[in-house]
Amino acid sequence: MLDAIASARSILNRLHEVMASRSAAQAKLNTVVEVIGAGLDSEVCSIYLLREGMLELFATKGLAQEAVHVTRMALGEGLVGTIAGNVETLNLAEATAHPDFSFRPETGEEKFHSFAGVPIVHRERAVGVLCVQHVDPRRYAEVEIEALQTVAMVLSELISSAGLVDEEQAWGTSAAMSGPAQMQGLTLVKGLASGVAVFHQPRVTIEHTVAEDTEAERQRVYLAFDRMREQIDKMAAQAEFGGGGEHDEVLETYKMFAYDEGWKRRINEAIDSGLTAEAAIERVQQHTRMRMRQIDDPLLADRMHDLEDMANRLMRTVSGQLGTAASKGLRQDAILIARNLGPAELLEYDKRRLKGVILEEGSLTAHVVIVARAMGVPVLGRVAGLRSVVREGDALLLDADQAIATVRPTPAIEDAFNARFARNREKQAARAALRDVEPRTKDGQRITVMMNAGLRDDMPMLGMTGADGIGLFRTEFQFLVSATLPARERQTRLYRDVMDAAAGKPVVFRTVDIGGDKALPYLRHDEDGDEENPAMGWRALRVALEREGLLKAQARALLEAAGGRTLYVMFPMVSEPWEFDAAKAVFDAQLKWLKGQRKMLPEAIRYGAMLEVPALAEMLDVLAPKISFLSIGTNDLTQFLFAADRANPKLAERYDWVSPSILRFIARVMKNLEGKDVDIAVCGEMGGRRLEALALMGLGVRRLSITPASVGPIKELITKVDTREIAEAMKGWLANPPQSLRAELVAWAAARGIDCD
Ligand code: PEP
Ligand code: MG
Repeated sequence: MLDAIASARSILNRLHEVMASRSAAQAKLNTVVEVIGAGLDSEVCSIYLLREGMLELFATKGLAQEAVHVTRMALGEGLVGTIAGNVETLNLAEATAHPDFSFRPETGEEKFHSFAGVPIVHRERAVGVLCVQHVDPRRYAEVEIEALQTVAMVLSELISSAGLVDEEQAWGTSAAMSGPAQMQGLTLVKGLASGVAVFHQPRVTIEHTVAEDTEAERQRVYLAFDRMREQIDKMAAQAEFGGGGEHDEVLETYKMFAYDEGWKRRINEAIDSGLTAEAAIERVQQHTRMRMRQIDDPLLADRMHDLEDMANRLMRTVSGQLGTAASKGLRQDAILIARNLGPAELLEYDKRRLKGVILEEGSLTAHVVIVARAMGVPVLGRVAGLRSVVREGDALLLDADQAIATVRPTPAIEDAFNARFARNREKQAARAALRDVEPRTKDGQRITVMMNAGLRDDMPMLGMTGADGIGLFRTEFQFLVSATLPARERQTRLYRDVMDAAAGKPVVFRTVDIGGDKALPYLRHDEDGDEENPAMGWRALRVALEREGLLKAQARALLEAAGGRTLYVMFPMVSEPWEFDAAKAVFDAQLKWLKGQRKMLPEAIRYGAMLEVPALAEMLDVLAPKISFLSIGTNDLTQFLFAADRANPKLAERYDWVSPSILRFIARVMKNLEGKDVDIAVCGEMGGRRLEALALMGLGVRRLSITPASVGPIKELITKVDTREIAEAMKGWLANPPQSLRAELVAWAAARGIDCD
């Protein structure tokens, strides 16, 4: 039996010479089949390449030379067509026994019994087939197949640099990657988009496959392993702050692979056979993929995704291509593909070019989704196996309204989608026309509809939607998009610009809410070790009160920016009334200082708190006299009420906002503040959904602060509702909860012709 490493290595050395030679492409291929045939001690060696959609015999040693450029196979036809079509390896003792065998008399192949073939893959697509044949009816040894696969990798470089194949027509890496495919997910941000797939973490294209210096390649891989291990350890250490959306379980698996000596050894062996570091990583990965495909186990498939992530990470480290698609500059009409994203990562993308996002994970109230909603970018989440179906550059139709996406659509699918897209735009335009409509209910109640914002760029939406103001300005977004802590002057400038842009409409500035899934690398809390539950940990006001400098700077920036105007300040995650007092005291002290400096002061200051921590609801009698307004943050409130992490994709669909427990809770808050001089608003994502907003109106909520895209739809809804009627119905449902309150509400709305989609 052959020593695979030694033989692959000697073949590679010879191939390297052939590739470097000045002969014509055809002459090179003719030499290549001789080299491989001799190297693998094989009677036949042939290369089929893709031309005009067919696999054509380009060179052979052992078959009739008259068949060269004559024998052609279609996709799926014969053994060669099967190998390319399925991007799989065949290893047969008796070729004629295979059901796909197709006899080609012109080749004179009848005397050869055994057959082995591997696809030649370039940029994840099959561009040809390399095969060997023997007179003896015996299967090839695994090591021989591996040598063949190694050689096929090198061939792909030769073939593509010689421009020998039609890459445009190349087939996908598997049947699942060739034709159109529809993917089902969970709607995270509604909307439609058509564009081209862009991987958040781009795959590295391998430029060179044959090593000049094997030892140097080995060192590159070792170094990359060290770096990758460092990165993973760092990510695990940062997990106490949310870790940028990657979950503990995934991190554990990453760690397992990063420290897997078996993996490292296999890559090392591939390097021994003469490959470059990049080619060796890919070579091992191809082999693993092939073996995984034979095992039909969903758990293993999940692990395979983790391993693909790690291989991609290792490849990017080794090749120094570490940036995300954002750092490379986004192409037009991009639809971003990722396993998951952090809010700061999403904010790095050019909003004008980014048309949609598709995630393997994701949940409705994760901050990345809130950011996407603010950017007006549709998001489909929880798409299982996404990255094994979609390739970089594939055409994509994203219909987040119906929770589906179609990759590589046929013209017919595209036509149907475009028709829906056009109708959708008409609907949106009709809603935009509601900009100047007062959101008044049928019984004459004026509902205040404000919008949520967080960046300077969000402000034009205020005029476009006709919202009554900004009910929640998430000041931490400025911190998230900065590499360092934003200096006070920069904060002042932003707040001033925002108030200028609001042109007299109120803007409620929420002091920084960092921590949880909004991690800031430059503001860490290391001394006390890892936080197991960052959402319930050191975040928001808890950080601000401890790092007083942070709140002081923000207080001063806000007070100065609001000179001569009314300033609305809101504190997040207030858990007990004293925390509100302490935060307000920081503002009082800054105000006093400014007074001393004879600076222009705000005309008035209104303080408010967010109700996100259920404990605060028990203390509203104490808190109420201190505040002008209370804003119910249903995103956090629900995660605490149900003890369900808002960023955990497994819980994304588990609890319903329209559930008696949440609605009873809010009803009780409304009742406890009845007759008190406190404006109550809801500023969580819940208020931007029509059915949920209807429920809130039934509870007496008259102020909403919602995502800009929802302002039109919610205004329209308001004009159709009689609050007395919905309040009456709600009272009944809360007293005697039906089995599904959602179903009751839907039926109630439908009976009145109110569309709650
Ligand atoms: C909330 O928790 O409901 C909220 C509005 O705040 P954020 O989503 O920023 O945590
Ligand atoms: Mg919150």
